[in-house]
Amino acid sequence: MKLVFLGPPGAGKGTQAAEMADQFSLVHASTGDIFRSAVAGDSELGAKVRSYLDDGKLVPDELTSRVVGQMVLDRESDFILDGFPRTIRQAELLDEMLNEKNMNLDGVIYFQLEPEEAIERLTGRLVCSGCGKNYHKVFMPPVVEGVCDVCGDELIVRSDSSREIVEQRLEEYREKTKPLSDYYKKKGLLMSVDASESPADVGRVTQKLIKKMAGGAEE
Ligand SMILES: [Zn+2]
Repeated sequence: MKLVFLGPPGAGKGTQAAEMADQFSLVHASTGDIFRSAVAGDSELGAKVRSYLDDGKLVPDELTSRVVGQMVLDRESDFILDGFPRTIRQAELLDEMLNEKNMNLDGVIYFQLEPEEAIERLTGRLVCSGCGKNYHKVFMPPVVEGVCDVCGDELIVRSDSSREIVEQRLEEYREKTKPLSDYYKKKGLLMSVDASESPADVGRVTQKLIKKMAGGAEE
């Protein structure tokens, strides 16, 4: 099965992708991991990616797609793409690459989360200044507010969790990635999951969808 997981930051799609990949024996192809392993190798593509990352620049759509093509599609195994495609252009390039290999996507699962909820989840993340343990103001609070349960040091807001950075990420998502849900809806591939539920509940719904898809493919 070949799947794409879509959703705003904070929707937990990475967690679900890891979980479902495990349950259904699929490759969990997260763009972050793909870039890391491309950069770690000594391929020409890896060197190109590294030059963008070193300069703190966004890796262009074409290059991102080529890397995903080489690291994922060339292995010809089943996968869940997580973090790619991120733009319409990337989705078009993915379609082209799949076509060339006579492959197609079986489905796109869209983890839906209201922006306010995403902001609450993302800005609530805390980290211990001493031991590095992660907390969340609402979902995983320490016993004593502002103090680490383990070492007693002060909890601080994670550097990627400031209101400004979170809003910037959500805005970028809304502008560039959100239109992908319509793109895949038109192709009849889109399925939505309410990501505001607990990770366990979201997992159960997602699992059902994938099972149904797998059943449909065998008929
Ligand atoms: Zn601590």
